[in-house]
Amino acid sequence: MKKALILGIAGQDGSYLADFLLKKGYQVHGSIRRTSHRQLERLEAMNILDKVELRYADLADQISLSTLIKEVQADEIYNLAAMSYVAASFIEPLLTADITGVGAMRVFEAIKEYSPHSKVYQASSSEMFGNSDELKNENTRMLPASPYGVAKVFAHKTAQQYRNTYNLFISCGILFNHESPYRGLEFVTRKITSAIGRIKTNKQDKIHLGNIKARRDWGFALDYVKVMWIMLQQDKPDDFVIATGKSHSITEFLEESFEHAGLGNWEKYVEIDKKLFRPLDIDNLVGDSSKAEKILGWKAEMAFKELVHLMVDKDIKNQEK
Ligand code: NDP
Repeated sequence: MKKALILGIAGQDGSYLADFLLKKGYQVHGSIRRTSHRQLERLEAMNILDKVELRYADLADQISLSTLIKEVQADEIYNLAAMSYVAASFIEPLLTADITGVGAMRVFEAIKEYSPHSKVYQASSSEMFGNSDELKNENTRMLPASPYGVAKVFAHKTAQQYRNTYNLFISCGILFNHESPYRGLEFVTRKITSAIGRIKTNKQDKIHLGNIKARRDWGFALDYVKVMWIMLQQDKPDDFVIATGKSHSITEFLEESFEHAGLGNWEKYVEIDKKLFRPLDIDNLVGDSSKAEKILGWKAEMAFKELVHLMVDKDIKNQEK
C-alpha cells in the first residue's frame, strides 16, 4: 500500500486530495495545526475523517515538520499548507513570508535530511506572475503583486534549487484559481455563493465586495488535485501550469450565480466597499496549460458555468438545512 503525506490536509485542496488518494488505495497521513477551534469540517463533510491519520505540524516549526516527515516515510508528500489568502498577505506580510515562503524551505530541508526518496508536490501559484496581459506559461516572467505572490516565488525557486542541487523529486504545480463548495468563506467566489445561500433563506440582504472587475481563470478543485497526483506518477520532476485557459470577471461570476439562484439582478444586492480593494490587484490572470496537456494528458474538465452552479446549489442547500 502506498503512503501519502498531505501537509495542509484540512484545507480545500487537502481534503479533496485525501479523498482522491484514499479511493486510489493509499494510506493517507495529514498535518493539521493546533488552533482553539476545530478545523476538520471539510474532512467530516467528505466522510473521511476516520480514514486519515492526522498529526500536528506547523510550517513555522522545523521540529514538528522534521519529526512528521521522518516518522511517516511517505512515498509521496504534498505541500499544500500555506497562508493562502492574498488579501490577508497585505495585512500580515511577514507571517506570509515565514509560512508560505520559508515554511516550504523547512519542508524541503526535512525531506532532504530524513526522507529523500519521497516524491514531492509543491503548491505554486498563478499569483507569482503578477500583472501582464499575456497568457501565462511555465516560462513567463514572475512579477508578483502581493506578499503572497512573493512568498510563493520564494517557495517555487527553493523547490527548483533543492531539486537541482540535492537531486530531490520535487514537482511544482503552478495552479490558477480553483474553487469548489469547500473553498474558504473569505475567497470572493465562495463569499458570493455563501451570501446567495443566506439571501435565499432571508438571513442576509447585501454583499460587500471590492474590485469586481478583476478577471481570473477559475477551475474546479477536484480536477486540479487529480493533476497533483499525476505529476508525482512521472519518471522526472518538472513544473506545470494548470489552468482552464479562460478568464471571467467577478462581475460575470455575480451575473451567473444570481441568475442561477433565481434572484435576478445582482446589482440589487452588491455594495462596493473601497476598503476591500487591495493595495495592488492583478487585472487579469489566464493560464496556458498546454505543457500539462501534452506531457501529463491533463485538461480541466469542469467549465465555468457548471462550477458556479455547483457552488450556488450547495450553498443554498447548506443554508436550508
Ligand atoms: P486552504 O487555505 O484551503 O488550505 C491551506 C491549508 O494550509 C489549511 O489546511 C491550513 O490550515 C494550512 N496552514 C495554514 N497555515 C499553516 C501553518 N502555519 N502550518 C501548517 N499548516 C498551515 O488553501 P487551498 O486548499 O485552496 O490551497 C492549497 C495550496 O495551494 C495552498 O498552498 C495555496 O496557497 C495553493 N494555491 C491555491 C490556489 C487556489 O485557487 N485554491 C491556487 C494556487 C495555489 P488551517 O485549516 O488550520 O488554516
